[in-house]
Amino acid sequence: MTVHLSAVGLEKSYRKGRTGVPVLHGVDLQVERGELVAVIGQSGSGKSTLLHLLGLLDTPDTGEVWLDGDRIDNLRERKRDDLRNRTFGFIFQFYHLLPELSALENVMLPHMIRLKAWSYLKQRKAIRSRATELLERVGLGHRLTHKPNELSGGEMQRTAIARALAGGPEILLADEPTGNLDSGSGQGVLELLRDLNRERGLTMMMVTHDQTIAQQADRIVRLAEGRIDEWAAAIA
Ligand code: ADP
Ligand code: MG
Repeated sequence: MTVHLSAVGLEKSYRKGRTGVPVLHGVDLQVERGELVAVIGQSGSGKSTLLHLLGLLDTPDTGEVWLDGDRIDNLRERKRDDLRNRTFGFIFQFYHLLPELSALENVMLPHMIRLKAWSYLKQRKAIRSRATELLERVGLGHRLTHKPNELSGGEMQRTAIARALAGGPEILLADEPTGNLDSGSGQGVLELLRDLNRERGLTMMMVTHDQTIAQQADRIVRLAEGRIDEWAAAIA
């Protein structure tokens, strides 16, 4: 087994007026390549904060993030952008789809944003067919032209998963991906993530409130009082 992603002594506080509100107090965590880790913990315990630090959406006050044996939290902004766009894929509780765009366009969007206009135009056909394949893979081949408000919650999350896969990530970071779904659609989304984890060897970290969902991960870690609770890791 090789360590894919790790946190070393992560600390993070947010400012509230003049005082800092401490959230993470030294989080140490190692995630193996291909592992699916569930992160649990009470509301406000810092689960989203941890995911943001690991995926370079935010920077720690102290501590380090390592990817494949290289420290990544202190890289230049351009390199960090690159990792965010290519190495990491993000999935959120409320999908974050653009309402004006079809499912297909939402999945194509990361490429539209990243490429210069002329190279996007040159590659548009390939990008469109790749986005179509991804939507087919998540079971939405029949919903390509639907807008988000014409999709169910489960279908919106599947679209967001296809979008997260568009950059060919190695690591998916999912923040309560089933949090807004009924248990049937939530289970379907979890099974899709699990299948993608197995078939593509994707490393995944998934925040969840749902015990039934968490128990299907390879390992459960719990955030409590700003640290990882290894006891929770042991029972998983
Ligand atoms: P969780 O995802 O476990 O519910 P979060 O990581 O979102 O917890 O938040 C942890 C704590 O940090 C909470 O008390 C929250 O209010 C606070 N917090 C989160 N983001 C910010 C922010 N941008 N500014 C100030 N406080 C924040
Ligand atoms: Mg959260």
